[in-house]
Amino acid sequence: MAWTYDPTTHRYRDGERELTERQMLALRNAIADGMTAESASLAQRLIDGALSLVEWAKAFAKLIRAGVGAGFLLGRGGRATADAAAKAALADLVNTQLAYAKAFAADVGLRLGDGTATVEGVAARSALYAGASVQAFDQGRSLDWGVRLPFYPSDGDTACGGNCRCAWEIADFEDRIEATWHTEGDSRVCDDCRSRGNRYGPGSPFVQSKVSA
Ligand SMILES: [Zn+2]
Repeated sequence: MAWTYDPTTHRYRDGERELTERQMLALRNAIADGMTAESASLAQRLIDGALSLVEWAKAFAKLIRAGVGAGFLLGRGGRATADAAAKAALADLVNTQLAYAKAFAADVGLRLGDGTATVEGVAARSALYAGASVQAFDQGRSLDWGVRLPFYPSDGDTACGGNCRCAWEIADFEDRIEATWHTEGDSRVCDDCRSRGNRYGPGSPFVQSKVSA
C-alpha cells in the first residue's frame, strides 16, 4: 500500500489508515528540523574549510529548494496533485528565500574575510530558513483548502521569525471554512504568536465565508 492524497477530505490515506492533523504537523516539523540539522552541518564544513563559500552557498540553496518544496507539497497534497497555480506559488516561495540566502552568503563572505564568521553564527542564521518550509507547508495547505489566511506560521512577521512552529487547524463547513491558530506550547512561542492565538485561537477562529455571488 502507499499513501495517497484525498483532495475532498484533505487527508493522506493508506487503505484504512489516515494521517491525522498531529501527524501532518509532525511531518512538517520534521522537514524543518532536518533543514536545521543539515544547515548546521554545512556551517561546520564551511568554517572548517571543507567547503568554499561558493560550494556552501550552492549546497544551502539546494537545501532551501528541497526543504521548501517538501513542506509545500506535503501541505498541498503531494506532487501528483500539484497544478500550475501550485507550482507557481512554490516557485515564488523558493525564489523569495533564495534572494534572502544570496544576501546571507554575501554577509558570510565578509565575515570570512574579516575573521568574524563562526559555526554558531552561520548555523543560527541558517536555522531561520527552516521556517520557510513551515510557512510553505501552511501556504500549500491553504491553497489546497481554498482558504486565504491572514498570516502563516514562520512567515517572518513574528519576533520568533523562522523558529515559529505554531499551526493553523482548518475545518470545512457547508457555508464556511474555519481556521484556528494554535500556539505551540514551547519555548519558541513569542508574544506575537500568542497574540495571533488570542485573536484566532480556539473559540474565535478565522472564518472565510463560502457564500458567493
Ligand atoms: Zn509561533
